[in-house]
Amino acid sequence: MPSSQPTAGHLAVKPEYLSSQPNPMAKPSEPNRNAKYDPKKPHITETPMTRSNWYKHVNWLNVVLIVMIPVYGCVQAAWVPLQLKTAIFAVLYYFATGLGITAGYHRLWAHTSYSATLPLRIFLAAVGGGAVEGSIRWWARDHRAHHRYTDTDKDPYSVRKGLLYSHLGWMVMKQNPKRIGRTDISDLNEDPVVVWQHKNYLKVVLFMGLVFPMIVAGLGWGDWFGGFVYAGILRIFFVQQATFCVNSLAHWLGDQPFDDRNSPRDHVITALVTLGEGYHNFHHEFPSDYRNAIEWHQYDPTKWSIWVWKQLGLAYDLKQFKANEIEKGRLQQQQKKLDQKRSRLDWGVPLDQLPVMEWDDYVEQAKNGRGLVAIAGIVHDVTEFIKDHPGGKAMINSGIGKDATAMFNGGIYMHSNAAHNLLSTMRVGVIRGGCEVEIWKRAQMEAKGEIAKDSAGERVVRSGNQPTKVIQNTLTAGAA
Ligand SMILES: [Zn+2]
Ligand SMILES: [Zn+2]
Repeated sequence: MPSSQPTAGHLAVKPEYLSSQPNPMAKPSEPNRNAKYDPKKPHITETPMTRSNWYKHVNWLNVVLIVMIPVYGCVQAAWVPLQLKTAIFAVLYYFATGLGITAGYHRLWAHTSYSATLPLRIFLAAVGGGAVEGSIRWWARDHRAHHRYTDTDKDPYSVRKGLLYSHLGWMVMKQNPKRIGRTDISDLNEDPVVVWQHKNYLKVVLFMGLVFPMIVAGLGWGDWFGGFVYAGILRIFFVQQATFCVNSLAHWLGDQPFDDRNSPRDHVITALVTLGEGYHNFHHEFPSDYRNAIEWHQYDPTKWSIWVWKQLGLAYDLKQFKANEIEKGRLQQQQKKLDQKRSRLDWGVPLDQLPVMEWDDYVEQAKNGRGLVAIAGIVHDVTEFIKDHPGGKAMINSGIGKDATAMFNGGIYMHSNAAHNLLSTMRVGVIRGGCEVEIWKRAQMEAKGEIAKDSAGERVVRSGNQPTKVIQNTLTAGAA
């Protein structure tokens, strides 16, 4: 067999695997599946699941790693006593291995949001391995695909396939390597720590996941089995479930202050669970920022750790988006929300869509009992409103069939902004020769962008720019 061909259980990283092609070595935890993978043959996920083949769709190694071993740990915990020292160590090691994923796998390697010195990279690769979530290389590749193809079929853990799928299903069920979006990981292949960890992944997992916590508790205070069950298995279970929440909960629960086109969301609960990765809407907008939380009061221990490492000289080149860029995104999203609210309100028939009425016809219809009032050349049907008019029936009746522009704009009473808004909903036509020119001018202004339109192309009617609001000189003309 030529040396360039992958063989089962062969974990050496060869140059031909280093491209972004669907990678036969992509999942070091699944050497058997990868050895069987042939891009020409249909993948098991391309065949329908039946009673006789369902087990072939299951990724059994991952079932063992993320379901069966944790269940075994829970059963053991029923009679293995938990010592205080072991409990404290398990919690500390939980944070260390969690940081390996959040500060290491995620922010350092997947997003290169900062640079780390060799000792810090070795530390993060080791404790990250102890979280048992695959090698840095595999993890970062899928994560880059997740960012590039968020919510699409090429997103390896798309929440569009269900919350449970994005949390666990994507690992428990086999994935079609042809389907996951292509990403560039050439930078990772140049990091000797990443390459070494990928080659020696099973050794790293066994040692950092189980042997090391056992040794600490065993040599430290004689609690070998407690170290294995609590600081090993159960701690792995909690770290895995917590970090899996970034793919599930952070795409399902919370607000979208920066962009709502895709699923990522910000929520403090997700942040508390995931060592600060819960400000996921921000993160998807500004992925190369070393922070997830940008406010001082938000919980982001991963950011705090990176900052401390910087003070210690272990981390450098911390990347941060300018506040100006962040605020622009936030404002645009707010504007979008406002536009959506605006579109749900009745602003009246747009002027250029109103029928043109002759003045005589207007007067005639008013005489025949229709409650028509012309203001600034726009005809309003106030028949239903006469009885509700706050200024009384007599006042409103005095304007019917006349040019009431001046009366409405201070001649009798300077009507409120709310009154202009309400009036606009009663529009039924425009007078020929009355305000046609004004309306034409307005249409020109709209075309030139002098009258604002929102992101959906709707007119922005601001307080004070309603067409029935007439300034002083037109007022005298109208009164004449
Ligand atoms: Zn995400
Ligand atoms: Zn990310």
